Amino acid sequence: MSYAKEVLNHLIKRNPGEPEFHQAASEVLESLAPVVDNDPIYQRNAILERMVEPDRVILFRVPWMDDEGHIRVNKGYRVQFNDAIGPYKGGLRFHPTVNLGILKFLGFEQVFKNSLTGLPIGGGKGGSDFDPKGKSDKEVMSFCQSFMTELYRYIGKDMDVPAGDIGVGGREIGYLFGQYKRITRLYEGVLTGKGLPYGGSLARTEATGYGLAYLMEEMLKTVKGESLAGKRVVVSGSGNVAIYANEKATQLGAKVVAMCDSNGWIYDEDGVDLKTIKRIKEVERKRIKEYVNEHPKAEYHEDGSIWDVPCDIALPCATQNELNASHARTLIKNGVIAVGEGANMPTTTEATQIFQNAGVLFAPGKAANAGGVATSALEMSQNSMRLNWTFEEVDQKLKQIMVNIFHNTADTAKQYGHEGDYVMGANIAGFMKVANAMLAQGMV
Ligand code: NDP
Repeated sequence: MSYAKEVLNHLIKRNPGEPEFHQAASEVLESLAPVVDNDPIYQRNAILERMVEPDRVILFRVPWMDDEGHIRVNKGYRVQFNDAIGPYKGGLRFHPTVNLGILKFLGFEQVFKNSLTGLPIGGGKGGSDFDPKGKSDKEVMSFCQSFMTELYRYIGKDMDVPAGDIGVGGREIGYLFGQYKRITRLYEGVLTGKGLPYGGSLARTEATGYGLAYLMEEMLKTVKGESLAGKRVVVSGSGNVAIYANEKATQLGAKVVAMCDSNGWIYDEDGVDLKTIKRIKEVERKRIKEYVNEHPKAEYHEDGSIWDVPCDIALPCATQNELNASHARTLIKNGVIAVGEGANMPTTTEATQIFQNAGVLFAPGKAANAGGVATSALEMSQNSMRLNWTFEEVDQKLKQIMVNIFHNTADTAKQYGHEGDYVMGANIAGFMKVANAMLAQGMV
């Protein structure tokens, strides 16, 4: 049996009940086979066994008080996965579905993604099963303060630097930062995605979505001699990644005709009006169905799927496994030419294979959504230097990073005899740097 397969079988046996972690690990390990099965140095040094085991997992109780004066309790987690090439870096997710298996999948992916950015950041992920939806600001603050009262012991600007993810935006990062500062008396870049008045970076809010659009543009240009201009695009989700993917794709000349939230999806043949979406989702924190009140020509559906909408480009930007094999077949039948994962692992393994076999350009999340964490690393640099770059400077650096990621991914896939397989290219390119650092640092 191949080394990669052996490690995978062992991992599945030793980590029961963690299907998302199994899925992420099997995708990565299978694509690393051409590297690790051809050089005994990796097996001799147990590189894969060490890479699939987090450095440590911190699990803690988060008590907080609701507006009725009741004490509520949630679970808090931080998975510090790998710090071979830099301090742990990765978001915090607050969502009722959060569990250890999901955070391990996200932390594991983050290690490779962060390596791909070319910046010195290791991988981690954390969060809670707390649901900020429907909670008052006071309740969210109470929760965030309690969460940080435990987490602060394990993080620091040179140790572990969390950021946002699903359910954790500017408001939550602000409360978390305030509590960290209060407890430690340190004013340091311990979190990214901060507000601009207290150390945030311009363009961080936009970075994941913009980065996705930049990578898609580069892929279309390089492989097909085309661009986003004139393309019909479907973007799932209506959160941070989805909104700014829409914004940049639209600026580059595409028309985004559909978006969604977890209740339903909207279709607007004239192109989704982002101003309305931003107000509903970012300011009023309401549901996407409100959109049709102001745009009566648009449609709102709770049945069917957003992936039934015909498009040239599909950008899944909501959550894991939201696009399955049947969706993939429908998209292909409707003429999709490229898919870019704005979310982490939004496409099931089977759907990914269907796209690749049909010759659809497929950009995996590790490459396609790396712009967020890359810009977080730029925020860390600015914090350390105690200065701020302009929006244009950060955006320019982000664009260059995404272009580099695409070419690094494409060149690596080609070098290993799988031209056009960007899943394999991203996994191998991300792996090499981390593996080499681990080899150099000895048995840790
Ligand atoms: P947000 O919380 O801002 O938005 C998530 C969006 O997805 C919301 O519109 C949410 O709807 C929707 N959604 C969640 N679950 C479902 C579902 N089951 N079906 C349909 N829609 C759903 O999160 P982000 O935009 O920050 O993150 C989105 C994805 O991108 C995640 O996979 C995240 O890990 C990934 N990512 C985020 C980065 C970042 O910088 N923020 C960086 C890299 C990756 P509702 O409001 O109803 O819950």
